[in-house]
Amino acid sequence: MTMTLSLAPAPSAGVPTRRLIIDGKSVDALSGRTFETRNPATGELLASVAEGGAADVDLAVAAARRAFEGPWSRFTPFQRQEILLKFADLVEANFEELTMTDVLDMGAPITFARARKTRALGLIRFYAGMCTTIHGETLPNSFPGEVFTYTLKEPVGVVGAITPWNAPLTSTIWKLGPVLATGCTMVLKPAEDAPLTALRLGELLLEAGLPEGVVNVVPGFGHDAGAALAAHMGVDKVAFTGSDVTGRKIIEASKGNIKRVTLELGGKSPDVIFADCDMELAVPGAGMGVFANTGQICCAGTRLLIERPIYEEFVERVSAYARSLKVGAGIDPATQIGPVVNATQLERVAGYIDVGLGEGAVATAGGKRLTEGALKHGYFIEPTVLSGVNNDMRVAQEEIFGPVAAAIPFDTLEEAAAISNATPFGLGGGVWTQNVATAHRMAKAIRSGTVWVNTYGGLDPAVPFGGYKASGYGRESGLHHVDAYLETKAVVMKL
Ligand code: NAD
Repeated sequence: MTMTLSLAPAPSAGVPTRRLIIDGKSVDALSGRTFETRNPATGELLASVAEGGAADVDLAVAAARRAFEGPWSRFTPFQRQEILLKFADLVEANFEELTMTDVLDMGAPITFARARKTRALGLIRFYAGMCTTIHGETLPNSFPGEVFTYTLKEPVGVVGAITPWNAPLTSTIWKLGPVLATGCTMVLKPAEDAPLTALRLGELLLEAGLPEGVVNVVPGFGHDAGAALAAHMGVDKVAFTGSDVTGRKIIEASKGNIKRVTLELGGKSPDVIFADCDMELAVPGAGMGVFANTGQICCAGTRLLIERPIYEEFVERVSAYARSLKVGAGIDPATQIGPVVNATQLERVAGYIDVGLGEGAVATAGGKRLTEGALKHGYFIEPTVLSGVNNDMRVAQEEIFGPVAAAIPFDTLEEAAAISNATPFGLGGGVWTQNVATAHRMAKAIRSGTVWVNTYGGLDPAVPFGGYKASGYGRESGLHHVDAYLETKAVVMKL
């Protein structure tokens, strides 16, 4: 395996230091402060990372503004496309290293992380294709006189991008793609729990020929660098992915200069299993719909709504499936469930299981932390199925963001639809049935940004993704994602 970032050095080599990327240069934080990032499977120290704060955000925003007004503004769509395509090639060439960085930094199972290759590369090449599709319109004139009216699509300006830790590679690409396709510039604040992949992507962008200052990467903490970026008067738009709690703070912080804001937030997605489903598909499909990436996926199908005639059987089978999953360090290709990202998250997930049991649910699989043998230094918890849940319980209403499924019975399609929609969220949803009418009816009834039928979680780059209700607003991927990074100017000309 080639590893240029050498995140796991020999003890004598010391711990790698990672610095901010501002104006094309690798720099220390002005405060001189650093923070540690560790492997959640082992507690091993991976790197000491420069801790960006408000002053560093100021420098990065100024660099992004200069780049926006400088040579980058004269790059043609073809030239931007060329950079994105070179970047895609570099990501492809360095994919194993980037995957390993995600695995070590946030604990992703390597088999799961490797399987994202097509998607990650597909996304960059998709946005490369978008560069040459952005254009305005000519418009008819209904008033007296000769008037020629057309619209121009112009980049919104400096984008502040703030990302979570659960999928560092793809969530960073989701921000970079539309920024570069439209000619915006960016200051990226990756999550403090997993900043290394974003820093490496920042280096690869420079290697691909991106001018200095177009993409700046400022790791740091949410309450400091994140809050400064969200409120910064020099930032024109904030593109945020994270929890609904932080999303509300972003809206508040954006008021100063009326920033454009897009929010990709959390979920509590229903996965509806009808009695006529193909159980051989539905058990592992719905199982991985919630347990993939150790349950740390925003659109995870965490509420298993099961039609009553098969409730007991399905709960038993999905529980057996959960018990069969191999838990371990992400670096082991056999691992299906890795650690959760940190001690706080472990406490939170374990706390929710206790809350569910206290509310009357029963753990038919899992429910316990794993602390023996090789797992003793990491943040491991068993994949858990809670049965006997009703939709009013906290474990059915609040996002846990860990490997915990809540099994809820239902009797009719109408009841399944009502339960599906009875949370504040609306991000994902699933339907398992062999009846095409049931599939269409449920897909229409679920108020969420994506509904999967007889599958769960896969998305082509051309498919829009985002939330209804408290899951946010705006869409990533898809033909219209770039619109959120553009302004429309009407030019009205008397001839
Ligand atoms: P989080 O909201 O705690 O943090 C996300 C990012 O916001 C981090 O970079 C953090 O440093 C920053 N931040 C925190 N406080 C801030 C503040 N006051 N101002 C500005 N920035 C601040 O979320 P998390 O725990 O990192 O990630 C998990 C959450 O993200 C879950 O709710 C999950 O559903 C959601 N998520 C959503 C999507 C989506 O596409 N809808 C994708 C992945 C994750």
